[in-house]
Amino acid sequence: MTVNAPATSTRSEALFARAKAVTPGGVNSPVRAFRSVGGTPRFIAHADGAYLTDADGARYVDYIGSWGPMILGHNHPAVRAAVAEALLGGTSFGAPSEREVLLAELVTRLTGAERVRFVSSGTEATMSALRLARGVTGRKFILKFRGNYHGHADGLLVEAGSGLMTTSGELGAAAPSSAGVPEEYAALTLVSEYNDPAALDSLMAERGHEIAAVIFEPVVGNAGVLIPTPEFLAALHRVRDSGTLLIADEVMTGFRLSLNGATGLLGLEPDLRCWGKIIGGGLPVGAYGGRAELMEYVSPSGPVYQAGTLSGNPLAMAAGLATLGALEANPGIYQQLDRYTGQLAAGLRSAADRAGQPLSINRVGSMLTAFHQGVPDGSIATYQQAAASDTAAFAHFFQSVLAQGIYWAPSQFESIFVSAAHGDLELERTLAAAEQAYQTGGT
Ligand code: PLP
Repeated sequence: MTVNAPATSTRSEALFARAKAVTPGGVNSPVRAFRSVGGTPRFIAHADGAYLTDADGARYVDYIGSWGPMILGHNHPAVRAAVAEALLGGTSFGAPSEREVLLAELVTRLTGAERVRFVSSGTEATMSALRLARGVTGRKFILKFRGNYHGHADGLLVEAGSGLMTTSGELGAAAPSSAGVPEEYAALTLVSEYNDPAALDSLMAERGHEIAAVIFEPVVGNAGVLIPTPEFLAALHRVRDSGTLLIADEVMTGFRLSLNGATGLLGLEPDLRCWGKIIGGGLPVGAYGGRAELMEYVSPSGPVYQAGTLSGNPLAMAAGLATLGALEANPGIYQQLDRYTGQLAAGLRSAADRAGQPLSINRVGSMLTAFHQGVPDGSIATYQQAAASDTAAFAHFFQSVLAQGIYWAPSQFESIFVSAAHGDLELERTLAAAEQAYQTGGT
């Protein structure tokens, strides 16, 4: 099997030119456009296991995994078979069906949430959980953390991470982070610093009685990987003393860091949780859930309205059931992912050291960011620290490994995602490519 990535991707270039004529920026989600690393985005023709194949036939070891969902690898036989079987029975009903019950039973069993509601994206999950928190508490304000990303709902595009850390061209853009978000909406979103328990405590002491919910990424992926300190996690749990609900946004970490996500790994006790990505096995699904007494506020049981034409879609439910079912049946996958990603981290570390390149690696399980800056591994804990990375050095790394057949996340401020299909061969290829990238990078 050869990895063969040409320097120019002529079909991708042609498709990108056509796409730009009909779609803003040529893409349907901003980071895909490669704006922060330069060059032409590769248009993907198909994907299998740990590999993406682009429109020119070049194959890449994939570290995006569709930004998280593909934990089993692409085109997994069990997921494909489940979707194919569902397809024979029709693609959407607009009425309840058995797979929705089965997936809800599986999710509640794995996570301990008593009730779960399916939606079609992570954005809908966080947006709906916040509406629920406001409905339950009768309070207007919410609190989020700088550099955390919870999807693109208006009130959440405030000091947001992910694509917003690079697309505006300016790090740390002031609130709101997007044009089109009225200041009045943004004013209902309070912002505190991630991993700063004192700042959170004092904001809560002053405003806690007005705050419906604190929403957070339990391990941040959207400013690059940031790991919460035990002191910060304790401060997060204290927000409930003010009657504020604690919402763990597990859209990225759910079913990735453990079968019970970051909640299980870190021993969290959130009131509500949001899921996305893996829960739909690569099809569009999000979900939110928690204790029955809270979730029963959601319509039609309660007064908080939330609905969706394609919610609980049979194909999406089938993909989620197959994916979560495979994870539950093979819990050793989590050790395997941890081992691979640990070896990847160690290999990047020594390759960068040999080349004299500054690098600081943050990793939890199969989420990893290698920040291009010379501070010790694990020491980058805040948005500002992450934002101090050398994005030009990252762009060099990205382009160099891409040309060698490795598809890394096209932004310094994202996590990479390893799948169960990544093995020794992929590790070896990745580290060989990284060696060359660091050796040829300027310092
Ligand atoms: N929350 C987190 C933590 C995310 O990482 C994302 C997407 O990357 C979202 C919410 C939004 O999910 P979606 O893109 O499915 O709307």
